[in-house]
Amino acid sequence: MKRLVAMIAAAVMAAASADAAGRTKIDVLIRHATVIDVASGKTLPDRAVAIKGGDIIDVGQDAALFRRYSAAWLVDATGKYVMPGLWDMHVHFGGGQELIQENRDLLPIYVAYGVTSVRDCAADISDSVIQWRSEVTAGSLFGPTIYTSGPKLEGYKPLWKGTIEVDTPAEVDAALDRLQAMKVDFVKITDNTLKPDIFEYAVKAAKVRGLKTSAHTPYAITIEQAARDGLGSVEHLDYLIKAGSPQEAAIGADYVAGKLSYGQASDRFVETFDAAYAKGEYARLKALGIYVTPTLTMSRILAYLDREDHRGDAALAYIGPGLRKTYEWRVERAAKSTPAQVEARHREYELSVKVLPMLRDAGIPILAGTDAGYLNSFNYPGQGLHDELERYVEAGLTPREALASATITGPAFLGHSDRYGAIAKGKAADVLILNANPLTDIRATRSIDSVVLHGKWIDRGVLDRTLAEARAKASKAN
Ligand SMILES: [Zn+2]
Repeated sequence: MKRLVAMIAAAVMAAASADAAGRTKIDVLIRHATVIDVASGKTLPDRAVAIKGGDIIDVGQDAALFRRYSAAWLVDATGKYVMPGLWDMHVHFGGGQELIQENRDLLPIYVAYGVTSVRDCAADISDSVIQWRSEVTAGSLFGPTIYTSGPKLEGYKPLWKGTIEVDTPAEVDAALDRLQAMKVDFVKITDNTLKPDIFEYAVKAAKVRGLKTSAHTPYAITIEQAARDGLGSVEHLDYLIKAGSPQEAAIGADYVAGKLSYGQASDRFVETFDAAYAKGEYARLKALGIYVTPTLTMSRILAYLDREDHRGDAALAYIGPGLRKTYEWRVERAAKSTPAQVEARHREYELSVKVLPMLRDAGIPILAGTDAGYLNSFNYPGQGLHDELERYVEAGLTPREALASATITGPAFLGHSDRYGAIAKGKAADVLILNANPLTDIRATRSIDSVVLHGKWIDRGVLDRTLAEARAKASKAN
């Protein structure tokens, strides 16, 4: 009897999961697409992509999949290109408790620009970010998948708010206990007031616990030493300029001794950068397994604030007044710069553009990230990532390499390559459908026809409405 019930139950279930023609019922079937295999740079024509729940369950020749599946939604992607959703590996949600809602309002904007995952690199509203992370995963909040460091580690009385202040190994251990209890996705460490030996202790202790780290490295320590300690990712390309100076350690020592200011030391790294030395150093860093998030767009915006006026940027319409106000800090700082400081910033950016392909040549994995969020003026959530990819191609990366930095490297860093990085069976259904081929022109990542987020297909009309709502919210907040 029991067996018979089980057999009937199985038959009922089979009927529910197949249509009259015996085709398996699924949620979305994207048809006649050209699938972009980012890893190889190949395009696969006339493919269908079968999506059920949050998963890609099959990819293959269109005719074969059309016979096999019956979908609630059929999406005709004739003449269109399908690739994995984009990852922005360096964003910030922050600016104080009063800006929580404005930050939350940024989430749909990321999706509308095809960014389906973001890595939040710490700020001052971590409790909210951690709550959003769960809500997005549960499907109750519309936004990209969030990976977050939670509050970052710093020394006592840093410039930054919302940090965990540590000054001893015991305090680092307690901080890591707390971060692990919050189930953070990685640990962010910055060096505003953090002692160099405590920085090194934190990197090593996190590694022992199996936690990835991402950092601004103190000038007292070479990047190679930080990599030997087990640092996971270096944020911002200027640290790789530092690593490319044969005088890196000596300049760092002069800074520690008070002979050079922070700004003077960073200028010295630029002045003493040596391409031949850097090549060898980057090979050593590659061997140590370090990743780099260049944040070139941010460097470029800050470097040229003297000659580019952003007050008319259309994208400002998406930024609420509170967040917009945080932009002033950088603008005011830039306005106070001397002509020599402005010149030094230009030189640093021009060198950054040359360093990026050197990192690629060394095989160092590049994480596409923008630094978008509060404080970082005119670096717009969503759009910024497309700008960043364009900067990479201008600097000499191929479009395929730029795409890989925004689809493959991020999941690899966070240990999620099994679920992300390709349009393939078993991967998460975070998918972009584009009107043009980004392998031939990287700007095509902006030509978004529709987005599949966590298995749900969102057409252009809905994406446009999402953007209109975001603009309305940002202006209403005024
Ligand atoms: Zn940042």
